[in-house]
This record gives sequence, C-alpha cells and structure tokens, in this order.
Amino acid sequence: MSDMRLVVVGAAGRMGQTLIRTIHSIPGVTVAGAIERSGSPNLGKDAGELAGIGTLGVPITDDPLPVFAKADGVLDFSVPAATVEFSGYAAQSRIVHVIGTTGCSPEDDASIAAAARHAPIVKSGNMSLGVNLLAVLVEQAARALDADDFDIEILEMHHRHKVDAPSGTALLLGEAAAKGRSIALAQHSVRVRDGHTGARRTGDIGFATLRGGSVIGDHSVLLAGTGERITLSHNAEDRTIFARGAVKAALWARTRKPGLYSMRDVLGLS
Ligand code: NAP
Repeated sequence: MSDMRLVVVGAAGRMGQTLIRTIHSIPGVTVAGAIERSGSPNLGKDAGELAGIGTLGVPITDDPLPVFAKADGVLDFSVPAATVEFSGYAAQSRIVHVIGTTGCSPEDDASIAAAARHAPIVKSGNMSLGVNLLAVLVEQAARALDADDFDIEILEMHHRHKVDAPSGTALLLGEAAAKGRSIALAQHSVRVRDGHTGARRTGDIGFATLRGGSVIGDHSVLLAGTGERITLSHNAEDRTIFARGAVKAALWARTRKPGLYSMRDVLGLS
C-alpha cells in the first residue's frame, strides 16, 4: 500500500509540532498538509521548519477542504469547536479522522458520532499505549474491589497552559473505573470539593486537578480502603507517545469501515 498521506490540524501547537516530527520519522506515512486557524501568525510558514526538522514543502494554511481532498487521514489535537468542524470535512472527504482533542461537550460528541457514519474516526482522551493499558487495569481493579470497601479517586497534573479540567485522560480512567463497577460515571463523579461537603458518598468517583509548570501529564488512580491503599499511575515524559499512538491509530483505521473507534480498539485492548 502507498504511504498514508496525513494532514495535521492545529499544526503550530504543542502536539501539532510533535505530530509533524513524528510522522516525518515513521516509514509509511507522510505529512500531506498542515492547518491552523484563520488569523494565525503561522499561516504560510513551512510546517517542517516550524517543527524544527527543516523544510518539508508543506505550507501551513487555513483552508482545510482542498488539503483534505488530497489526503488519506487527519490527525487532530486542536480545540473542540475546530474538531467538530474538521470531523464534517473529513466525513465529506471520506478520510480517517484521529481525534486527540479533549474537552468536547456532549453536543460536540454527538456531531462527531454523526460524522463517524461516513468515515472512520478514532477518538481518545489519551493515545498512549501506557494509559490505555492502565485503563484496563483500573477497570479490573474497580471490578475486583467492592465499592463498600474501596473508594476511587483520580488525581491528575498538567502544565500551566492546559485549558480543560479534569483532563481527557482522567475522564477516560474514570469511565474505566465506572465500567468496572457497572455504574454510569455521570451519576457518580465528583469533580470539585470545596467548603463543608459532608462525608464521602459510597461509590462516588472523585477527581482532583493540579496545574503548573511544564508537566506533560501525570495520572494516578487511588483505590483507598480501610488500612490499605492501591495506587495505579502513569507519567508521560514526552508528547511523542501521543503522536506515535495517533499515527498508529490512523494506519489501523485506514482499512476500517466508517464508525467511531477508541484507542483500546486500535491496541486490541477492548
Ligand atoms: P495547543 O498547543 O494550544 O495546540 C492547539 C493548536 O490548535 C494551536 O496551535 C491552536 O492555534 C490550534 N487551533 C485553534 N483553533 C484552530 C482552528 N480552528 N483550526 C486549526 N487550528 C486551530 O494545545 P496542545 O497542548 O497541543 O493540545 C491540543 C489538544 O490535544 C488539547 O485538547 C489537549 O488536551 C489534547 N491532548 C490530547 C492528548 C491525547 O493523547 N488524546 C495528548 C496531549 C494533548 P492558536 O494557539 O493560534 O489558537
């Protein structure tokens, strides 16, 4: 099969630049386009030069449709409003859309699910192998340890620029814990505690968020019982783990039917 031609949207961002470097370093995939928002100071710049790997001959543009029309897939770590728009364009072009963007609302997710009727979409709050394996372990632990005996709390820390909370990964881990307990996360998640909160409700899944410095992503799931505590953790040291996962997802989805897939599907962990 010929090289998979991939477009990076949000190409000037932290993940966008990492994706361009990663695609360039992996055989079987090429950077076919780079998109940024209208008005971005990076429009017209070469995507490779911006990412620090030299000229690729791929100028950054704000006009996705003609670029999508000549591509096989889109890697998207941008912002929810842009991701919803891109999912429509990718569906129109019948190409793979890999979505790493976090902070999507239920309405955003409904639009993305509608687009997935026409093209394969892989969406995950975390594209790394480690976190997806961690989610499997969390699900098993939550299933094995009774809610009456063990409380589940999820702690995350990210760099000072992150705009959404809890992180997409924390929510992914919360969903895994809820699945293990056969409960709906929405009815049991506690996102904030402040003031006189009363005692902890049995079966709740708590989230705590830390922000600061340059932390790429630290997550811990604590299962706290009386007299003992289990902590399952993942520490991301390099954004390349997400970019490699996104490329893997695109190659996997290339031969799949339209539909909404997760990283656990890609990694065979479902
Ligand atoms: P970032 O550095 O702010 O990058 C986002 C990029 O998207 C920026 O360059 C931004 O441009 C651009 N953008 C905004 N609106 C756009 C539009 N309409 N069209 C095209 N580009 C647009 O953020 P980041 O740290 O790379 O993270 C991006 C997203 O990925 C976040 O949601 C983050 O949580 C998520 N993430 C997911 C994973 C995962 O494994 N799933 C891993 C890491 C990060 P301006 O700055 O000029 O507005």
